[in-house]
Amino acid sequence: MSIAEKNALRLAKMIKEKKLSIREVLDGIFDDIERNKAVLNCYISTDSEGAYREAERLQKLIDKGEDPGALGGIPIAVKDNLCTAGLRTTCGSKMLENFCPPYDAAVVENIKKAGAIISGKTNMDEFAFGSQSDSSYFGAVRNPVDTKRSAGGSSGGSAAAIAAGEAVLALGTDTGGSVRLPASHCGVVGIKPTYGRASRYGLIAYASSFDQAGVIAADVESALMGLKQICSYDRRDATSVLCDDGAFDLDSSADIKGMRIGLCEDILKSCDTEVSATIRAAAAEYEKAGAVVESISLKKREYELPAYYALVCAEASSNLERYDGVKYGYRTSEYKDMEELYVKSRTEAFGPEVKRRIMLGAHVLSAGYYDDIYLRAMKMRRLITKEYDELFEKYDALISAVSPETAPLLKNEKTDPVKECAKDLCTVAANLGGYPAMSIPAGTDSKGLPIGLQIMSGRFEERKMIKAAYAFERLKG
Ligand code: GLN
Repeated sequence: MSIAEKNALRLAKMIKEKKLSIREVLDGIFDDIERNKAVLNCYISTDSEGAYREAERLQKLIDKGEDPGALGGIPIAVKDNLCTAGLRTTCGSKMLENFCPPYDAAVVENIKKAGAIISGKTNMDEFAFGSQSDSSYFGAVRNPVDTKRSAGGSSGGSAAAIAAGEAVLALGTDTGGSVRLPASHCGVVGIKPTYGRASRYGLIAYASSFDQAGVIAADVESALMGLKQICSYDRRDATSVLCDDGAFDLDSSADIKGMRIGLCEDILKSCDTEVSATIRAAAAEYEKAGAVVESISLKKREYELPAYYALVCAEASSNLERYDGVKYGYRTSEYKDMEELYVKSRTEAFGPEVKRRIMLGAHVLSAGYYDDIYLRAMKMRRLITKEYDELFEKYDALISAVSPETAPLLKNEKTDPVKECAKDLCTVAANLGGYPAMSIPAGTDSKGLPIGLQIMSGRFEERKMIKAAYAFERLKG
């Protein structure tokens, strides 16, 4: 029996008013997880025992008339690169296949405090490197809309879990689009907040100056409910920002008359025709509703992907140095010295995409190339960000596609990794500059595959982005 209510706010209300017990909600969720497991592969680990135990505790509070918390009894799926105390956290890798963290990530602590119930840990590209959720050691995630296709990545398990009713909220992480892209391919909402709003404590690092946790849900209101909880100041993360501005309180009365929206025309040129037509139709809807839409083209767009990949690989290669077979993670069974321990452990436990990125990153940071590649990419990051900062002086929000195409067929051996990286064209700028960005369903192509609209605002200006998103959701009915 699946749960019918996908809106987190209404579900929380039904639970509090005892129209539904938390146990009933979990029965529905775990039924669906079990039923879809072999096909969709959304979860790497589930925790029904822990979930029912927590359900009992919360139900007792409700029965006594006490408040179970803002997310009281809501099942939430957590991407497997966010540490969960006592619950295996693999990052989709053989390297961490048996890693059981002794502590919770800050965002996990926050949702637990708010009464959410963790259904399990979702499948993802190995170490969050990828856009198709097909590089996991635990097998690819399949898209619930069409199971021959990718769910998008790297938080594919989280997005697919929401689309398939296997959770009501899901946490993902976004380094270059990994919350937005799978949300777009699976037809759900995915929001990445401004860099610094959600603590990175306990988020297994990919590229620390880009990584940010986000929320995936069926609609804007539900996603906000999750964001409100995960975003908080945390002194354990030096980049965490104290910002109690109520950015995630939904202003449902907000109308968008006079809102200034920039339509990224240059992106649309690189998109499939059905995708660009859908985004143009969205722009037309905004205009009809009274927004002022102008076409823009980014002068430095062509540098976004090269700057992004040079920098994230550099950061990834140094972040992944810690997996040496000594402290934690996989250790090879036979070795004659320290050197061989390192080499064999890493060779045996990392997949091909991880190795590729470590090598690229080490190259970028090597003495001979540091100035030529790393430093230039850093300068380019600055210039790209400057251009966006200026645009956000002029526009409340920028809109574009999330991906140049709808969900691709799951790749075979021959797929070119460079081509896969090129698909991140629409999303990486938000992480280069730390801007909030989101994906919201905008329509489908002729095959019935979802197309997401990307909305992006200036740093800490989530209110504008959310206003535009909520209005769009209403306009689409
Ligand atoms: N596809 C991008 C990459 O592989 C983004 C991944 C992410 O956001 N984690 O780097």
